[in-house]
Amino acid sequence: MKYTPWGNFPNTQENSVPLNWTGSPLPLVSDSCLPRGLGRSYGDSCLNSPGLLLDCTPLNHFLSFDSEQGILKAEAGVTLQEIIENTLPKGWFLPVTPGTKFVTLGGAIANDVHGKNHHIDGCFGNHVLRFELVRSNGERHICSPTENRELFRATIGGLGLTGLITWVEFQLKKVTSANIDVETIKFHNLKEFFEISEESKNYLYTVSWVDCLATGDDLGRGLFMRGQHSSDGDFSSKSVNSQSPLNVPFNLPSFLLNGLTMQAFNTLYYNKQFSKLSKSKQNYNPFFYPLDAVRNWNRIYGRNGFLQYQFVVPHESGQEVVEEIFKKISDSRMGSFLAVLKNFGKIKSPGLLSFPREGVTLALDFAIKGPEVFQLLEELDKIIISNHGRIYPAKDARMSTEMFKASFPNLDEFLKWKDPNFSSLFFRRVMGETKI
Ligand SMILES: Cc1cc2nc3c(=O)[nH]c(=O)nc-3n(C[C@H](O)[C@H](O)[C@H](O)COP(=O)(O)OP(=O)(O)OC[C@H]3O[C@@H](n4cnc5c(N)ncnc54)[C@H](O)[C@@H]3O)c2cc1C
Repeated sequence: MKYTPWGNFPNTQENSVPLNWTGSPLPLVSDSCLPRGLGRSYGDSCLNSPGLLLDCTPLNHFLSFDSEQGILKAEAGVTLQEIIENTLPKGWFLPVTPGTKFVTLGGAIANDVHGKNHHIDGCFGNHVLRFELVRSNGERHICSPTENRELFRATIGGLGLTGLITWVEFQLKKVTSANIDVETIKFHNLKEFFEISEESKNYLYTVSWVDCLATGDDLGRGLFMRGQHSSDGDFSSKSVNSQSPLNVPFNLPSFLLNGLTMQAFNTLYYNKQFSKLSKSKQNYNPFFYPLDAVRNWNRIYGRNGFLQYQFVVPHESGQEVVEEIFKKISDSRMGSFLAVLKNFGKIKSPGLLSFPREGVTLALDFAIKGPEVFQLLEELDKIIISNHGRIYPAKDARMSTEMFKASFPNLDEFLKWKDPNFSSLFFRRVMGETKI
């Protein structure tokens, strides 16, 4: 079976075994296993060639739902889409959601995913009450903030390396509508972004798109979106599923994406709104999951794939770092369509290797057109590391051993809990066992 990650890089052939819930010992038949969800990680954290992938998607049963308290127990292969479709009509939404709903519960925990409400609600792991973890020696552990606490902390954000999560119990969020009241505010530079961000602290959801190719006075211009669940009591959920009619049927030729087309796109997108402020009511799908509306959108980057680069740096140096990074990108003419900027809040992630920390985070996409992109990202790494930042393993396919070790200070503690028979291409690379 050929599995590729969402960024289509690296491109490997992987062996997988589908799992079924039987309650009996799981087929941990290899000395190198890695659980796999829906492969929405961009890089090699969801790959394990030549080891075995444990395909968790057959673990797709709901086990119990307390609709008074909003507590859901489900197998780890259940997707965020399936959860929303079952719980939103009853007034309960995900406590935290990434920018796609085609993610499994196991994947959401293993990367301790974050969303537009990080400044208020923290990460997904902050809402997990318990889960079961199966180790390669057949032991089963119930893990919670109070029971097997260390294993709980190692598994949240633990990149699938501590064992197999079979089921998860977590707290949903009570909401007043499936619609979001959204305000979109145009900002002209990063100083304005930080001012609006400060003023918007009480909005549940905040996120910004930035034109990362703009230069001079326009450097750091973009659109700031902030929203709350509407009070209209409308829970009719319009589903966008994997059969969405919009599809990119094959890898597009890479020449279509160049400095000119990207600049034209960014200018048009920035100018789609004339006024400083626009207000709208949006269904949760376009608000949280705009990219899910186009199946296989990752193919627009061509057959060599793309790299996503997401970093976080502390607030103290946030504005300077983001400015410096934009200047480098703009000079390189390798800008991305997608530049997403957000302030992370104070709530600490429970995971030893969780990516989020208080500060400023920026996510960028780069088509792989040659070695220049790797060189550019190495330059960006130096800026991030010298400012005490880190990059997101779920999106990474290239960070160096030095970068990983320097930016995840709990690594040694984590390694005590890693399962000796679980591994990944990512893990072997960042531990210096293999090269890209
Ligand atoms: C369009 C898009 C937008 C995104 N937006 C965001 C965002 O806003 N915020 C964010 O944080 N992330 C975001 N992501 C990344 C995505 O949320 C994560 O990579 C997520 O972990 C993918 O889950 P998955 O089910 O596809 O797991 P996979 O990618 O298949 O695997 C991810 C990790 O989970 C482990 N894993 C999977 N199942 C289990 C299990 N049962 N037991 C133990 N380990 C397991 C795997 O070993 C692997 O390490 C986005 C991705 C895309 C494509």
